Order: sequence, then C-alpha cells, then structure tokens
Amino acid sequence: MKKYDVQKFELLSNEQIADGIFDMRVKNDELAPLAKCGQFAHVYVPSKTLRRPISVCDSENGVLRLVYQVKGEGTKIMSEMKKGESVDIHSRSSRQRLYD
Ligand SMILES: Cc1cc2nc3c(=O)[nH]c(=O)nc-3n(C[C@H](O)[C@H](O)[C@H](O)COP(=O)(O)OP(=O)(O)OC[C@H]3O[C@@H](n4cnc5c(N)ncnc54)[C@H](O)[C@@H]3O)c2cc1C
Repeated sequence: MKKYDVQKFELLSNEQIADGIFDMRVKNDELAPLAKCGQFAHVYVPSKTLRRPISVCDSENGVLRLVYQVKGEGTKIMSEMKKGESVDIHSRSSRQRLYD
C-alpha cells in the first residue's frame, strides 16, 4: 500500500502582496477540502529535487491559500509560477491529508 500520494492542484493565482511575499491560491477538489490551517503542503518546485514545505494559511471551497516569502532559489521559482499551471503537492495517501 502506498504511504504517500502526489496530487495535482490548479494554480488559480500567485500574487505579490508585499515586498518578497507572495499569496498563492491552488485548487483541488479531493485534498484541499480536508486540509486545515497549520498543516503544511509539500510543494514540488520545477527543476528542484526537494519539495518546499509551505504552511496552509487558509482552506475554503477546495482552495488552499499558501503565503510564502522568497528566500532562495526554490521560492523564487515558485514566485514565477503562473495562473493555470499545475502544482504538485505531496500528501499522505491513506488519510488524504497534508502534513501536520
Ligand atoms: C513545516 C514548514 C512550514 C513552512 N511554511 C512556510 C510558509 O508558510 N511560508 C514561508 O514563506 N515559508 C515557510 N517555510 C519555510 C520555507 O519552506 C523555506 O523558506 C523554503 O524551503 C526555502 O526554500 P528556497 O528554495 O527558497 O531556499 P533555498 O535556499 O533554495 O533552499 C536551499 C535548500 O534548503 C532546503 N530547505 C530550505 N528551507 C528548508 C526548510 N525549511 N526545511 C527543510 N529544508 C529546507 C531546500 O530544500 C533546498 O535544498 C516552512 C518551512 C517548514 C519546515
């Protein structure tokens, strides 16, 4: 039995809300409705091997809100992702939850 799963989220928006701070909204009808604030999403960043953990700031109607600060290469690449792109988020498959 698989312990983990990767789900595709649709990138709805990725806006800069302050200097170096971005607000990313991603939609997924299976996992997002079960996610709670304080859990974290393990986000795949194109061209990077390791995923970047970003906390769930808000979760409503299948949309996760991830607020992050550009720190290094990975979050810089995240900040350049565009509406309509697919975002891979790693979850536990057994309980379909993000990480606590
Ligand atoms: C549980 C958790 C929740 C987080 N939630 C948020 C959030 O909501 N908003 C936010 O702005 N930031 C959050 N962070 C921090 C965020 O994940 C780091 O700023 C981010 O990983 C930096 O990535 P980078 O690619 O920009 O840095 P880089 O300098 O490119 O990363 C260099 C290397 O360090 C590794 N690395 C970097 N940060 C971490 C880390 N924290 N843990 C393990 N490995 C790391 C990367 O995988 C990479 O291999 C969270 C971190 C953790 C552990």
